[in-house]
Amino acid sequence: MAGEPQDDCLFCKIVAGHVPATIVRETETTVAFRDINPQAPTHVLIIPRAHYKDAAALATAEPALAADLLREAQAVADDEKLDSYRVVFNTGAGAGQTVFHTHAHVLGGRGLEWPPG
Ligand code: 5GP
Ligand code: ZN
Repeated sequence: MAGEPQDDCLFCKIVAGHVPATIVRETETTVAFRDINPQAPTHVLIIPRAHYKDAAALATAEPALAADLLREAQAVADDEKLDSYRVVFNTGAGAGQTVFHTHAHVLGGRGLEWPPG
């Protein structure tokens, strides 16, 4: 069923507490934790507790939950005292998506060039 935990999904395991992570925020619907390979002084991943393969699948099935990720991004930025930050949803392997449980990257704490590399 849509949104159900997947046995082979790393981020479902983090939600379940079966894989450790440095969790910085939790809500009823989301978990935010530090990326294991940070690309900026702040690099936090925000995930829905429910499993959806990418942001579009999430937004189609549960638009309110997709919006929760964006609100949580601002909450992370506030917690980390960031004036500005970037939210990234890599979608598809060609764009660098390696974990197919949707996640918002929140990056900040350094200059972020635009367009990105
Ligand atoms: P993607 O490449 O799919 O957009 O992002 C996946 C992110 O998950 C990467 O930035 C990667 O460093 C991070 N990551 C992969 N494995 C782990 C892990 O076990 N723990 C944490 N905290 N982050 C992970
Ligand atoms: Zn999952």
